[in-house]
Amino acid sequence: MDYALRKRVLVTGGAGFLGSHLCERLLERGDDVLCVDNLFTGTKDNIVHLLANPHFELIRHDVTFPLYVEVDEIYNLACPASPIHYQHDPVQTTKTSVHGAINMLGLAKRVKAKIFQASTSEVYGDPEVHPQTENYWGRVNPIGPRACYDEGKRCAETLFFDYHRQHRLCIKVARIFNTYGPRMHPNDGRVVSNFIVQALKNEPITLYGDGSQTRSFCYVSDMIDGFLCLMDGLDDLPGPVNLGNPVEFSVRQLAEQVIDLTGSRSRLEFRPLPQDDPSQRQPDIALARERLGWEPTVQLREGLRATIAYFDTMLSSSRG
Ligand code: NAD
Ligand code: UDP
Ligand code: UDP
Repeated sequence: MDYALRKRVLVTGGAGFLGSHLCERLLERGDDVLCVDNLFTGTKDNIVHLLANPHFELIRHDVTFPLYVEVDEIYNLACPASPIHYQHDPVQTTKTSVHGAINMLGLAKRVKAKIFQASTSEVYGDPEVHPQTENYWGRVNPIGPRACYDEGKRCAETLFFDYHRQHRLCIKVARIFNTYGPRMHPNDGRVVSNFIVQALKNEPITLYGDGSQTRSFCYVSDMIDGFLCLMDGLDDLPGPVNLGNPVEFSVRQLAEQVIDLTGSRSRLEFRPLPQDDPSQRQPDIALARERLGWEPTVQLREGLRATIAYFDTMLSSSRG
C-alpha cells in the first residue's frame, strides 16, 4: 500500500480489552495505529504481538493531560470499564471521561479529525423502559457508587455533541452494551470472566441476587465490526447508536451455559445483589441495523467457547 495513503488512527485505551482488538483490526486493514494508554487496566500483554509492527506505536500517556499528535481519526476508548476498576479511584474515573473527552475533542478540533466515543449502556442507568432505544434519557443515580462512570460518560456525550454543534466536529458516539471475549481481565469482577474462571477452577459460581437479572452479551469481534461500521459510515449519523447483542439471557442462564461448556464441577452460590445493579438490560439495535447494516452474528455459545479457551490457556500458563 502507498505509505502516503495510510490513515493515522489514534486509539486511546488501546492496550485494554476492546482497544487491543480494535488496534489489531485497524492494522490488518492497513492503517497506522497510535495506541495511547496509561496502562491502568490495560496491559502490554494485550498488544505485545503488535509491538514489532512498524505501523504500530504505543505511547504511555494519561488522557486527562493534553496530547499533541497529528492523526486523521481518533477512537476514544480510555476509561476503566468494570465496576471494581472504575470504583477504585472514582475521581480519576470521572476525570478520565470528562477531561479525556475535552482533550481528545480539542485535539480533533485542531487536526480536523473524525472522532469516535466509546459511550456505554450505563448512560441509561437502571432503565424503566425495555429494551432501551437511543432516545431514552435514562435513569441514573447521580450520587451513587456507579455515578463516577455513568455520569462521566454522560458528560462526555454532552461534550461530544457540543463540539459537534459549536465547532462542527465530525463525531461518532457508540453506546456499547456488555461485551465479552478473549483479553477480558480475569479478575475485574465482570460476570462472564468471573463465571469462566470460577468454572475452570471448579470453584463456586457466584450469583448475585437470585440470578434473574438479565444482560445481553455481545462477542468482541461483532462489537469491533460495529465500531468500524459507525466510524466509516455516513457523516450525517453522529449517534448515539446502540451497539450490542439484543439476545437477552439471565445471569443464571449464563452460569448454566458456562458450567455446561467447561464440564465444570462448580456449584451455584448466591450472594447479595450490589447497590444500583440494573435488573434488565437489552439494546434496541434497530438504528444500527437500518443505518449501518450492522448486527451481531456470533452466538453466545460460540463466543463463550472462544473465551473459555483463552482463559484456559491463561490459567494453565500462570500455573506454569
Ligand atoms: P479496559 O479497562 O480493558 O480498557 C480501558 C483502557 O483504558 C485500559 O487499557 C486502560 O489502561 C486505559 N485507560 C484508563 N484510564 C486511562 C487514562 N486516564 N489515560 C489513558 N488510558 C487510560 O476496558 P474495555 O472493556 O476495553 O473498555 C473500553 C471502552 O469501552 C471504555 O471506554 C468503556 O467504558 C467502554 N465500554 C466497554 C464495555 C464492555 O462491555 N467492555 C461496555 C460499555 C462501554
Ligand atoms: N488539546 C490537546 N491537544 C491538541 C489540542 C488541544 O490535548 O492538539 C487540549 C487542550 O489542552 C485543551 C483541550 O484540548 O485544554 C480543549 O481544546 P479546545 O481548543 O477545544 O479548547 P481551549 O484550548 O480553548 O480550552
Ligand atoms: N454478577 C453475578 N456474579 C458475578 C459477577 C456479576 O451475578 O460474579 C451479576 C451482576 O450483579 C450483574 C450482572 O452479573 O447483574 C452483570 O455484571 P457485570 O459486572 O459483568 O456488568 P454490569 O453490571 O456492568 O452490566
